Formats: sequence, C-alpha cells, structure tokens
Amino acid sequence: MPNKFDYCDKHECNKELVFECRWVCNKCISESLKNGSNQYKEDLRKKFLSMKIKNAQIPPDLKNKDLNNFIINDEEDEKIVDLAKRYMEQILEKKTHSNFMITGPTGVGKSHIAVGILKYCYELNYFRNSVCYSTSFGLASKVIATWKNPDLNEEDVLKEYSEIDLLVIDDLGYDDMGKKAEIINKIIYRRHENQKSTIITSNLKSNQVLAYMDNRTCSRFLSCLYSDIKIDTEDFRLKRI
Ligand SMILES: [Zn+2]
Repeated sequence: MPNKFDYCDKHECNKELVFECRWVCNKCISESLKNGSNQYKEDLRKKFLSMKIKNAQIPPDLKNKDLNNFIINDEEDEKIVDLAKRYMEQILEKKTHSNFMITGPTGVGKSHIAVGILKYCYELNYFRNSVCYSTSFGLASKVIATWKNPDLNEEDVLKEYSEIDLLVIDDLGYDDMGKKAEIINKIIYRRHENQKSTIITSNLKSNQVLAYMDNRTCSRFLSCLYSDIKIDTEDFRLKRI
C-alpha cells in the first residue's frame, strides 16, 4: 500500500484535511484519546492505592507484604493464599461482613497474609472500604492512653476502631491481658454489632484465642467466622526467611 498523506495505513481509511493544512485520521485520534484516558485512570488508581495503604497504619516491616509475594512452597501455601483471596472477594461481592482467624507460631507469615488481605481489597479497586492494621497490644494501649490524657476521649478511639470496615488485630494474646483484654473484647464485640469484618492473628491455638474472648464476644465472632486457618510447617524458618 503506498504511503500517501491522505491515507492511514494503520486503519486503511482516508484521512481528513483539517484547517486546510493537516491530514488526520479520526480513528488514530480517538485511539490516542482513549489511551490517554486509560493512562489517567491507571495513574489515579495507583495514587488511590498508595494513599489508602498509607492510611491503613501498616508498620514498616510489613509494608511491602501482599498476597502476591507470599512465598509459595507447596500446595498448602497455595491453599492459604487462595482462601485469603476468596475471603476478601466474598465480603465485597456479598456486601457482607465476616471474620478470619490465622494462628501458628512466630515467623510463618500470619501477619503477611493478614496485611495481604487488606491490600487485596484495594487491588480489587474497592477504595471506599476503610481498612486498618493494629497489633492487639497497640490497639489496647491506644485506648488506655486516653485515660490519662484529658485531650483524648476513650469513646472516640473505640468508635474509630469499631467502624473501620476491615480491621486486622495482629498478635492477639501477646501482652494484652487483664484490662487490655477487656478493651479488645469490647472492640471485637462492637465491630460485630456494626457489621464490620475482623481478622485476628495469634500465636495461640485457635481454642485459646476463643477462650481469650468473653462468652458473648466469642459467640458473635464465631457466628461470622469465614475461616480459621493454622499456618504451621516443620521447616517454616528455612522456608520463609
Ligand atoms: Zn489511523
């Protein structure tokens, strides 16, 4: 096909003379506009993603963790990641709330999976949902800090953490007994009342996690428990360092 000024080889159509000085192909123009707007949307999505993740209070050592970089060594690992994804997907699809519990020894990647679930919500472009991470100890300490500071209000903190759509309470059972346990119970209970989803990770066994809760909190938490997974492999230290 000869390359003429008034013919677009790409679209095999005639160009149009505009302003009596330039030949343009209308299809080329609409294509480049579309690419431009797609690029704009993608840039906006990335901007939202980083802004939202920043607000989730994920600590520096977990910041780069997501469900895509969880090291998969065997079928069991694959199942864990699949289950974590399905959990988030069903919350979004059914517009429901449900809980997730991850137990196992230190170093197996419980927090990695929990943070990965938070991020996955935004990877699916559900930017309206609020997600947040806290250790159990940190969460209880935040409430306790209000008791001695007249500028802070306990109810504000309880309300804030009871209204977040998806909250990770990491490391439940570590340095969070007594008064702290009462606070954590209160938050889990209120989150159920508000129909919000809670992910708990713990070094404790799952029955010990449930024993940590008082009866009414436990029965509510269990009534909406999507899954209770245990990550525990013999050579986990070798595998996941
Ligand atoms: Zn063209």
